[in-house]
Amino acid sequence: MYNESMRTYKDKNLWKENISKAKKGKIPYIASEQTKELFKLSKMGSKNPNWRGGITAEYKRIRESAKYRNWRKQVFERDSYTCQECGDRTGHNLEVHHIKSRKEYPDLVFDLDNGITLCKKCHKMTSTWGNKKVSPPANH
Ligand SMILES: [Zn+2]
Repeated sequence: MYNESMRTYKDKNLWKENISKAKKGKIPYIASEQTKELFKLSKMGSKNPNWRGGITAEYKRIRESAKYRNWRKQVFERDSYTCQECGDRTGHNLEVHHIKSRKEYPDLVFDLDNGITLCKKCHKMTSTWGNKKVSPPANH
């Protein structure tokens, strides 16, 4: 499996990165993705009088996104934070790609085996990048 000491090292780095961002005022120190989502929601709500109707769905979405982040982290750890396509491991540019698209295989969204660590560059080359239906490249 993944290298335990490497993982700790990376986690420490992420932690340090968060602290330095917080010090620069880029992100509130304790704000998790979830709080940020809620903040966005409350801003959205003030503009949209019908927002309460969608609130349950939104909370469900947020819960799902917490699950998603957890899945993503597990994939990163399994792949030792390295792009599985080009071997890039500089960090900060890694994403998790769904091997089978979320749209066509919604049941596999949180399946570890369906996730692969790719850098941004390699991720964009996948046909399902951004969860969009991209027409296949012209024959070459
Ligand atoms: Zn790559």
